[in-house]
Amino acid sequence: MNRAFWETERHEEFRARVREALRDSVLPHADRWEEQGHLDPAVWKTLAAQGLLDRGHQGEAFLDSAILLEELGRTGYAGVRASVGVHAYMATSYLDLFGTPEQKAAYLEPARRGERLAALAITEAEAGSDLSRLTTRARPRDGGGLRVDGEKLYVANGSQASFFVALVRTRDETGARRGLTGASLVLIDADTPGVHRTAQRMLGWRSADVSKVVLEDVAVPEDRVLGRRDHALLHIVQGLDFERLAAGLLAVGGVTHCLELLDAHVRRRRLKDTPLYGHQAIRHAVADLMADHELVARYGRHAAWLHSRGELDSRTATVLKLKATELAVRAAHVCLQFHGAQGCLDDSTAARLYRDASAGTIAAGASELLRDLI
Ligand SMILES: Cc1cc2nc3c(=O)[nH]c(=O)nc-3n(C[C@H](O)[C@H](O)[C@H](O)COP(=O)(O)OP(=O)(O)OC[C@H]3O[C@@H](n4cnc5c(N)ncnc54)[C@H](O)[C@@H]3O)c2cc1C
Repeated sequence: MNRAFWETERHEEFRARVREALRDSVLPHADRWEEQGHLDPAVWKTLAAQGLLDRGHQGEAFLDSAILLEELGRTGYAGVRASVGVHAYMATSYLDLFGTPEQKAAYLEPARRGERLAALAITEAEAGSDLSRLTTRARPRDGGGLRVDGEKLYVANGSQASFFVALVRTRDETGARRGLTGASLVLIDADTPGVHRTAQRMLGWRSADVSKVVLEDVAVPEDRVLGRRDHALLHIVQGLDFERLAAGLLAVGGVTHCLELLDAHVRRRRLKDTPLYGHQAIRHAVADLMADHELVARYGRHAAWLHSRGELDSRTATVLKLKATELAVRAAHVCLQFHGAQGCLDDSTAARLYRDASAGTIAAGASELLRDLI
């Protein structure tokens, strides 16, 4: 891929630096993290020291983030990219946008230094695509503040996080007004009594520490409400656009990795005297994926640029997330197919990419929901 139209020499240098940092601090450990189900706790400070956790969410600074997100995807480990993505972008974006100075000092700044790990706890058993079915409740607590009861599922970084940005119902609504009216975002410290977490073993994203988080009479001080109380819907809409932009850029990088692997494989693997790519069926399949990747990657960089100017619209974020994650599924399938039985080995890279790709079209908005939005 050529560089983005907005990429300067400084951006190119930054990309090279990020690639090197991820090569040193992620790739040697990633297979072990996949096994253990989460990143090593110590790596967060390393990533922070490498300047990978404090890149901007808004304005021109986001262009560095766009590069970082693509490069995280290009590591080929969707679990790692999800873990870092949720920490540095999806969860902390709510603090960046809506946090008070005190909340930023207590949560956002330590997260950027790699001292506190962030997670985003939105989904529940009955509230995934349809968040109006949210049941986690926050009631007034004697002596002030709130007490929270409920159960969150599929929370990336869930068992290791130091705090959660959680969506809870703070006011009962009935009838047509139910929806997400009366919901709030709250900051919950993971070591508060009543927080119980269990890792959920997933098909893919195995190092992302996807976990169930049970909240049982959890005390939350009043000043941990993030943004406008009872008006989380406004924040979630904005947060989801950002989440889909980030998810799309991560997926673009994932496809880059997959196609690099596929390209190298079809050039190396020989049938009789011909490499696989000597067969037109193979060549055309790879060329189609490369052409689609070119389009989606350029669209992603355009979306990043729009966001950096404060002009990203929901539709662009949605189209990017839909197209990038669905391309990842197609690319992973072709990659597996052309690897033959070798790709079916449980510990092969092709198998991991195939497993990982399927979660991408569900997390941060299932493809069908995104089509409805478009
Ligand atoms: C690996 C992974 C990591 C995740 N990480 C997090 C996290 O960190 N924090 C968090 O809060 N959540 C997380 N999630 C949850 C994720 O956001 C939800 O899975 C997603 O919102 C879909 O909800 P659901 O799984 O309940 O599916 P459902 O809402 O039950 O939908 C089931 C299926 O129905 C179809 N569908 C949905 N909407 C429509 C529609 N409008 N029309 C037609 N068909 C439709 C889709 O095929 C969808 O997959 C994660 C999920 C995965 C897989």
